[in-house]
Amino acid sequence: MIPPLPLFIVGAVLCGLSILMLCWHPGPNAWIGVRLPWTYADRELWDTSWRLGIVLVLGMGLGAFISWQVFIAATVVLLGVSLGCPMVIYYRKYGTLRFWKDQGWIAYHPVVRCRHCGHYQKLPDDAALSTAQCEACGRPYRI
Ligand SMILES: [Zn+2]
Repeated sequence: MIPPLPLFIVGAVLCGLSILMLCWHPGPNAWIGVRLPWTYADRELWDTSWRLGIVLVLGMGLGAFISWQVFIAATVVLLGVSLGCPMVIYYRKYGTLRFWKDQGWIAYHPVVRCRHCGHYQKLPDDAALSTAQCEACGRPYRI
């Protein structure tokens, strides 16, 4: 079964895009990627979201080869999962959805919540989480 031409073109473009995304891996930027404050605040989360995006865009492309209905369902899944997953991962890592921002377009930084006393603390970047200690109770965030 060959899909109608517009659907075939959409599917081919999306499959090509996912292959391009596999080869090309930009860091946090203002133009392309899962551009959320939480992904800007955590470089590791940005990379995870990009890899997740590859799978979802490929799913959209393959869905377009089947039918419009499958394509639309795959698009809804793409939007929901690519917005929801980074938030869930960030929350599990830092214990909060809070972040803080310097001046600039993408200068977001993570905030971590102490699981012992509930104190919120600003971190310079995600790498600082492994060595940071709570300002209020002195216990490490990572055990
Ligand atoms: Zn604490």
